[in-house]
Amino acid sequence: MSKEPIIVSAIINGEKIQTDKKIARENPTHPEQIVGYAPNNTREETIQAIDAAHEAFKTWAWSNVDDRIERMNRAIQKIKDQMPEISELLAREHGKALYDAQGEIAISVMWMEFAVKNVKKITTPEERKHENGRTIIAQDPIGVVSAITPWNYPISLSTIKIAPALLTGNTMVLKPSPFAPLAVSLVTEIIADEFPAGVLNLVNGDAEVGIELTSNPKIAKIAFTGGTNTAKHIMKAASDTIKNMTLELGGNDAAIVLEDFDVNDERALRRMVISNFLSAGQICMIAKRVYVHRSIYDAFVEKYIEAANKWIRVGDPFHPEVTVGPVNNKNQVDYVKSLVEDAKNKGAKIIPLGTILNPELMDNGYFLQPTLVLGADVHDRVVVEEQFGPTVPILPYDSEEEVINLHNESIYGLTSSVWGEEEHAIKVARRIEAGTTMINTAAVQGLDVHFPFGGVKQSGVGREYGLDGIKSYTETHVINIPA
Ligand code: NAD
Repeated sequence: MSKEPIIVSAIINGEKIQTDKKIARENPTHPEQIVGYAPNNTREETIQAIDAAHEAFKTWAWSNVDDRIERMNRAIQKIKDQMPEISELLAREHGKALYDAQGEIAISVMWMEFAVKNVKKITTPEERKHENGRTIIAQDPIGVVSAITPWNYPISLSTIKIAPALLTGNTMVLKPSPFAPLAVSLVTEIIADEFPAGVLNLVNGDAEVGIELTSNPKIAKIAFTGGTNTAKHIMKAASDTIKNMTLELGGNDAAIVLEDFDVNDERALRRMVISNFLSAGQICMIAKRVYVHRSIYDAFVEKYIEAANKWIRVGDPFHPEVTVGPVNNKNQVDYVKSLVEDAKNKGAKIIPLGTILNPELMDNGYFLQPTLVLGADVHDRVVVEEQFGPTVPILPYDSEEEVINLHNESIYGLTSSVWGEEEHAIKVARRIEAGTTMINTAAVQGLDVHFPFGGVKQSGVGREYGLDGIKSYTETHVINIPA
């Protein structure tokens, strides 16, 4: 499907800005097609956006919460109304299947509605009377937030930050990833139009813009989702001015299959397959290594392949039966290929999975046939690195101690899943180092915007979603009044 390229704007102090230098976003299904252009903003333009947000904060911080809620509700309604166009653009620029793009917008809306409904639980000051007098405990906005987001879920990972930040009285400069800047720019424009000038600003670009957004003294908080290595640069850049931070980073999530898992449970197997290959494996919270108790290993692998072959249908994101589209960009294709190649060279067996529905697209587009890696060593790159692509190693283990150690050896700790008899699985889950552990389900199927989400160790700092995800845009301010 070829269409005229769309041109999106930067938003600085309420003005829609075009620049001569642009980021051209290609279509991963047909890389010769340009889906659209976003401005490639300069450092100076980024400073203008930060200055605008800094000025707007002076009044926005003290605005009425009911007014903020009304504005956000109007924006949510407009996003819902424009869901078909936005999800289509997202699928074209990202490569994810259309149903996945629609799901991303649905979860964004779900979260924004949760934030609207619950913001007063956080912003209403608590007053306590005690023998020394009384104390008011208020949650104040922090200031200008810089939000920096990745390409894999560009809309949901931006609205996860925009909604709580603005509702609690902060202002923001958002910078999406150059690998998927278009649909998120439309959503940001819809929201920004409902708020006073300078409250929500949008710039595009890559590291240079990111460096300004993480070092500028007027930025009070950084809300970052992206890779762990990028976060290390960000922490350094922010250290001179000690900024508040929420970091949602990479993961190498494991699925642990216990000896009492029923290999004939087709529903569970389907969930696991989806949790390995949804969005071509490009999800932070997807299972990237599967450990199976040796007593059921062979039977499990056989049933897993059956389930995968049923669910995985690779092709054009707009084909109604496609479940897995192309990978988002060429770098990612090359990286995933290198991990699989490395395991193969060391003797692992590579099993192709699923059906290819559009063979004519495979060579030109950024497609990778999903694969299973069997016989890899626990320390092979395909096991220890975050593949972020459609491949997964399945490895046997002998004892629970062993598998818990293998799990916890990782530098990451984002999500994990345990599969088997429920109470047994919960016991194992309690010993796992991760921000979220799901039982007999995984990935987005186990995601619930009502509960905090985030990582431990090098998977992140802080939480998004849930009341914690709203509170993280506030600072506690205690006012003591003596008796
Ligand atoms: P990335 O770290 O390469 O880029 C993320 C963002 O940071 C982009 O907007 C990029 O332009 C910007 N950036 C790059 N260099 C910067 C710098 N020096 N200073 C400031 N900003 C800079 O990540 P990506 O490839 O876009 O996304 C994939 C990664 O994101 C994976 O590791 C994935 O696990 C992670 N992720 C984590 C979560 C989570 O919730 N924990 C969710 C989605 C993705």
